[in-house]
This record gives sequence, C-alpha cells and structure tokens, in this order.
Amino acid sequence: MENTLLLIKPNATEQNAVGRILAMAEENNMVIQKLRMFNFTDEIAQNFYAEHVGREFYEPLMKFMKSGKTVGVVLSGDNAVKNLRALLGNTNPEEANPGTVRALFGENTRRNACHGSDSAESAKREISLIFPEYVFINKNKDGLTWFKRFTKLSGE
Ligand code: UDP
Ligand code: MG
Repeated sequence: MENTLLLIKPNATEQNAVGRILAMAEENNMVIQKLRMFNFTDEIAQNFYAEHVGREFYEPLMKFMKSGKTVGVVLSGDNAVKNLRALLGNTNPEEANPGTVRALFGENTRRNACHGSDSAESAKREISLIFPEYVFINKNKDGLTWFKRFTKLSGE
C-alpha cells in the first residue's frame, strides 16, 4: 500500500470535471483517503513547485495554479504513485495516451488538468503541504501571530 497526491487543477475544476476524474481514480484501484477544495496561496504554490523555480514556465504556472479552485486528494493503493501517473498521462496532453485524464481534460502543457506525485518521497512532502495537520490559532491585535498555539485539524 502506498499514498500519493492528486491535484485537480483550476482548468479541470472550471470544466466541472472533478467527479469524473475522481471516478477514474476509483475505477483504477485507488482509494480516496483525504479530500479538500482550496485556492493556492503564493506561499503554498511556491513551496509546492520549489523544484521548478527559475524555469521559463514557472511564473505562468504560478499564475495558473492561483487562478481558481484546486481539489487535493490523497489516494492509496498498490503502486499508487505509478498508477496515478499512468492514469494522468504525459505532461503534454497532446502526447498523452487516449483515455488518460490529461488527454481527456488537459488543454495544453500548463493547463494539463491534474498533478500526480512523482515518487513516494515527493508524495509525503506534498501531502504534508496540502493537508497540514496543524494550523496557527490566536493572533495579537496587529494581526501578527503571537502565541505559537496549534490546533489539530484532523482527528487522527
Ligand atoms: N509545466 C508547464 N510547462 C512546461 C512543463 C511543465 O507549464 O514546459 C507545468 C505543468 O502544469 C506541469 C507542471 O508544470 O504539470 C510541473 O511540471 P513537471 O515537469 O513536474 O510535470 P508533471 O510532473 O506534472 O507531469
Ligand atoms: Mg512533476
């Protein structure tokens, strides 16, 4: 058993394709463990795509990822990392095999519908970013975090 992170990117949520993509994952032996819809902040987007800083596509990618709603999904299953990447298809939708998520819902290399972790190690890092277990509470009157008091987000 292995966990991986699926992101349904803003161009796919815009197409109302969330349910269809989740169904494809479930039909391919992946089980949904966690699910949330959110909008990327600068901070989380920069952290998530830190490996691509300086690439020519980095700035437009950041802009795209912040342009709408994203759905984060933790999927589990045998070889989930590899299986999800196969289900998504090539980064460039024009080169993705027919029937893959990116062939069906991708528009171009940037707006390619979904993200899938590329290794079990990346999955761990990405899952902790998108599903943090703790958040800051309590702010002082200037809006600055004053007390480092945490509250647990999930019941685990
Ligand atoms: N990307 C892009 N232009 C490129 C390559 C990548 O806009 O030439 C975007 C695309 O959305 C891709 C993401 O950057 O999914 C991360 O790129 P990576 O090479 O890691 O592809 P992935 O692992 O998502 O297939
Ligand atoms: Mg990648």
